[in-house]
Amino acid sequence: MRRTMSVRDIPSAAARRRAPRLATVAAAAVLAASASCHRPAPAIERVVLVGIDGLDWKILRPMIEAGRAPHLARFVAGGASGDLSTLLPTYSPNLWASVATGKVPGKHGIDGFAKRSASDAKKLVPFTSNMRRAKALWNVLGDAGKDVAVVGWWTTWPAEQVRGVMVSDRMQYNRFNIWLGLAHHGQDLPGQTWPRDLFEELVDATVVDEKVEAEFFRRFDPENPEPVLRRDLHDPWYELFLVYGRDRAYAEILDRVLDRGPYDFVAYYLNGPDIASHYFWKYRFPGEWPRPLPEEDVRRHGDVIESYYAWVDDSIAPLLEQADERCLVIVISDHGFVSGARGDSRHISGIHYNTAPDGIIAMAGGGVPAGATLDRAGILDIAPTVLHALGLPVGRDMDGRVLPIFAEGTGASGVELTFVDTHETGDGPTDTEPRDTEHDEVILEKLRALGYI
Ligand SMILES: [Zn+2]
Repeated sequence: MRRTMSVRDIPSAAARRRAPRLATVAAAAVLAASASCHRPAPAIERVVLVGIDGLDWKILRPMIEAGRAPHLARFVAGGASGDLSTLLPTYSPNLWASVATGKVPGKHGIDGFAKRSASDAKKLVPFTSNMRRAKALWNVLGDAGKDVAVVGWWTTWPAEQVRGVMVSDRMQYNRFNIWLGLAHHGQDLPGQTWPRDLFEELVDATVVDEKVEAEFFRRFDPENPEPVLRRDLHDPWYELFLVYGRDRAYAEILDRVLDRGPYDFVAYYLNGPDIASHYFWKYRFPGEWPRPLPEEDVRRHGDVIESYYAWVDDSIAPLLEQADERCLVIVISDHGFVSGARGDSRHISGIHYNTAPDGIIAMAGGGVPAGATLDRAGILDIAPTVLHALGLPVGRDMDGRVLPIFAEGTGASGVELTFVDTHETGDGPTDTEPRDTEHDEVILEKLRALGYI
C-alpha cells in the first residue's frame, strides 16, 4: 500500500512554538553565553520510534543487499545500527512495555499475555493498559509538556489520556472482527482512542473486505489456485491475513493521526513480521527443519516472510524519511527468530520464547553518524535514550542506560546527561484489575494457536 500523504513537511511542535518566541530564545542565548558552562538547547526536537515485532537481521540484511528493502537500506546506511538484546521470556507485552518504560517487567507489572481475573479465578483476561505500574515514555513526555502520538502499541487499551493522541492496540477488534465473524455484536468496544471522539474519524480505516482479501493473496500467495480464506484461527494463512489487515489498518490510521500533528514524540507499532516468522520460518530456512518439506511448498511459501518485510519497508518509508538534524528516528524489534517447534502448535516453525535471539536497532537523524555500529544496545535502553535525546533527565529507577552514541556526546551532544530519582508521580490508574471484554475469547484463542498461553 502507498501512503496517501507525505508527513515530511509537517513542522515539529517545537518548531511551531519556536516561531513566536524568538525574543525568549535570544534572551536564553545571552544567558547561555554568559554562563560559565556552555549548555546549548537540545539539538533534537522530535523522536519517532518505530517498533516492529520480530524483525530479524537474518532476513533483513540479505534483503537490503538485494535491493528488496530500499527504504530501510537507505535509512540503515545513513545512520547507526546493530543488534538489540532482549529479555526473557520474549513475550511481546512484556517487551514492548519495557521499551516504553525502560523498566523490567517486575517493575512495570506487564509480565505475560493474560492474567487470572480477580473475580473469577477460572477466567483469563488479557493485560490492559491500566495494569501497567510504571510511566511510559508518552506519560513522562506529556508531563514535560511534549505532544505525543501513540498508535497501535501493545497494551494500550483502554487508551490513556495522553497529551496528544493515542490509538489503542485493539482498534481492529471493532468493524474488522465483525466482518470476519469473530465478534458477534454490533457494539464498538469503547476506550479505543484518546481523544475519545477521534474514534469515529478512524474506525473506517479498520474495515477489511473482499478487495483486501484479494490483495492479500496477490501479495503473499500469488499462485494459489483457490484464493479463499478458511476462517480458522489455527490456519497460518488466516493468521497472516488477520495481522496484515491489522497492520494495514494502523498504517492508514497513522497517516490520519500525523495529519493532526505536529508531535514531539511518535510511537508506532507493527505486528506482522512476528506472525509471518512463526508460521513460515521453515520454508525460508528448510535446511534447519528436522523433516524434509515438500519442494512445492518451499517454493511457494519460501518468500512469505520477505514479502511481509517488503510491505513494511514500503509502509514505513514516510516515517524513515523524517530523519534529519532535528528529528531522530529509531527503528527497533523486540527479538529475532530461530528454527524450532512449539509444543502442540503444529504450524509453528519459527520461535523466540526462551532462546532470546537478538532483535534489531537502527537509528538516523539527530546527528547520529552514518555507518556507526551500536554495540550492546538492549530493550531497556530505548526509554532512557529517548528521554535524553529530547533533553529530559533519565530516571535512576530505570533499568537501562542512555546509548553511548548519545551519552558520549554525539547527536544530543550539547545536552548534559542528567538524572532524577524517578519520573513516577503516583498519579497512575487506581483500578489495576484487568478489564474483561467480549473480545477476550478471540484474543486468547489466537494466543493459544501461537502457543503463548
Ligand atoms: Zn512472537
